[in-house]
Amino acid sequence: MFLYVAGRMQDSQDLLTQADKAIGDGDHGIGMARGFSAVQSKLEASSPPTVADLLKTTGMALLTSIGGASGVIFGTLFRGGACNLTGETIFSSETLSRMLTDGLAAVQERGKAVPGDKTMVDALAPAAARAAEMAATALDEALPAVAQAARLGMEETKGMVAATGKARALGPRSIGYADPGALSMYLILDFMAQYVTSGE
Ligand code: ADP
Ligand code: MG
Repeated sequence: MFLYVAGRMQDSQDLLTQADKAIGDGDHGIGMARGFSAVQSKLEASSPPTVADLLKTTGMALLTSIGGASGVIFGTLFRGGACNLTGETIFSSETLSRMLTDGLAAVQERGKAVPGDKTMVDALAPAAARAAEMAATALDEALPAVAQAARLGMEETKGMVAATGKARALGPRSIGYADPGALSMYLILDFMAQYVTSGE
């Protein structure tokens, strides 16, 4: 599943570049593509024995290869998401819920963004809430619902004025455009959902 996400995130480079060109400096697409290329290499070179190892490897690859705000933020999401999963070897809806809840807490601790600031937190927070509601459901039912919650959160960032990051300087001129990091957050979850539901 994570190799599939890594491939599809690299394919999404142009979409993410366009999103960041609208309200940022345009580097988000190339950063995420570089990050998920590093994730792919690391996962192909090692077979993480537990979910925590998988998430730590993913987070570390993103953190050390992207640079900029999103390297720290998405690296922290996966590394923080691993903190209560020691020994877990099955990626279930319960695992997903813990990853997103703990990942969200780590991202907010690190970056101090709150919902409404027009960041990836606006996609991640509703996704984590939906995952908690669906923690006892089968993963192929939970993931599409979680991705849908992230998509709605991402759509809502279009109406927000950026309160942090590079788009902050634009003030009200950031209205009308989705936050690029929120778009990435939605895409990551949507690719996870696609993988689980199509059985690739
Ligand atoms: P940079 O802002 O350094 O150019 P990117 O363009 O790669 O980095 O990433 C920008 C994205 O990072 C934003 O769209 C936003 O979602 C996310 N981001 C920036 N600062 C924060 C923060 N403090 N908390 C959460 N996400 C953030
Ligand atoms: Mg940028």
